[in-house]
Amino acid sequence: MNIKVAKFGGSSVADSIQIIKTRDIILQDEGRNFIVVSAPGKRYEGDNKITDLLYLCKTHMDHNLPWEQLFEVIVDRYVAVAHKLGVDGVLDEHFEIIRQKINEGSSTDYIVSRGEYLNAVMIAAYLGYDFVDSAGLILFDDKGKLLHDATDAALSEELSKHKTAVIPGFYGSEKGSTRIRTFSRGGSDITGALVAKAIEASVYENWTDVSGFLMADPRIVENPKPIDSISYKELRELSYMGASVLHEDAIYPARVANIPINIRNTNVPKDKGTFITAHHDPSSNRIITGIAGSKDFTVIALYKDMMSTGRGFVRRLLSILEDLDVNFEHLPSGIDTMSVVLSNASLGDKLDEVISQIKIQLEPDNIEVFQNIALIATVGQGMTSNIGVSARLFTALAEADINVRMIDQGSSEMNIIIGVENNQMGDAIRAIYGAFEDEEI
Ligand code: ASP
Repeated sequence: MNIKVAKFGGSSVADSIQIIKTRDIILQDEGRNFIVVSAPGKRYEGDNKITDLLYLCKTHMDHNLPWEQLFEVIVDRYVAVAHKLGVDGVLDEHFEIIRQKINEGSSTDYIVSRGEYLNAVMIAAYLGYDFVDSAGLILFDDKGKLLHDATDAALSEELSKHKTAVIPGFYGSEKGSTRIRTFSRGGSDITGALVAKAIEASVYENWTDVSGFLMADPRIVENPKPIDSISYKELRELSYMGASVLHEDAIYPARVANIPINIRNTNVPKDKGTFITAHHDPSSNRIITGIAGSKDFTVIALYKDMMSTGRGFVRRLLSILEDLDVNFEHLPSGIDTMSVVLSNASLGDKLDEVISQIKIQLEPDNIEVFQNIALIATVGQGMTSNIGVSARLFTALAEADINVRMIDQGSSEMNIIIGVENNQMGDAIRAIYGAFEDEEI
């Protein structure tokens, strides 16, 4: 049988109505035996996520402010859901232990992980599945770094003893200790991927509140087409530009085990969602898989006669950035020109210092700075085998009167990155989308 891992995110388990939907989904496929859950998320716009409330409890505790009332808000939410699901009282003893631990000054990681813990205990009782705690199975070192091999071994050994189980996402513990450790926010996605790898799942289903990825941001492009299938590499290029639905670190465990990730919508389960796979789907005839944009970059363009015949220019440029602790994003170059693209977030207030060091150390003939630049990545493995893709892209941009400040094509040839003024980003994305929306190989 095809054993699947189904991970349900915060919005999918935010209240009893959502949890009943997840049960219907689980029961529709007899392979959905291993369930990973987040803590309850927002039920409506402006609502609080349980994890945020737990962080707040800890902050109150640390500032000697009363936290008990806040904790009661959390308790009340679970009690109401447990009642609707017909599992009253299942969490009572757990609430007591958590209260006691908070009083004793437990760590932030322990406190904020309880959202997932309580939800998994409750949902396991509701489904009649075993509850399997992630502590002792998802293993970290004492610096909080995930231990992949030890985790894989511990998870597969334990899960082989269970036919069906609910596992809390987001946390684990230090190897050889009971100290709880969490991933970064949104980390239940990683737990799901690790469980999928450990049980050699046929697919890792990641249930959320959208039907997978769209070719472009719907706030920019009206009704963009859904992406049926995307390779890990393509997704990496797109998520880097801010188009993320899935925690980045969830990709690695699934990729090494060659397990497809299927992003699905709990509220529209009939939608097939997006499959993220190791290789580009050969049956896909799209040239472009997706377009993503991100604002607020600075481009520093350098010109120096005979740059290409000199030695060490790039190395020295990069060491200036390294010394000033500034990350670079791209480094497009020509014969005697070189541009460096920096995100404003990483640059902070160091632009003047970067420029003055470049002038002193590299003595360029000319230096130009373009600020408020947006980067747009047009990604698609279908581009590699197609002639004229860039011609079409740049024609569309020219027709839309977009001033392209920078062009960079990755060596994989499946990604063209352009830099435009921040305020032209929307128009540029719409122009590119319009040029490729109906294009097939
Ligand atoms: N509950 C955690 C968060 O809100 C982890 C997760 O939902 O994936 O970040």
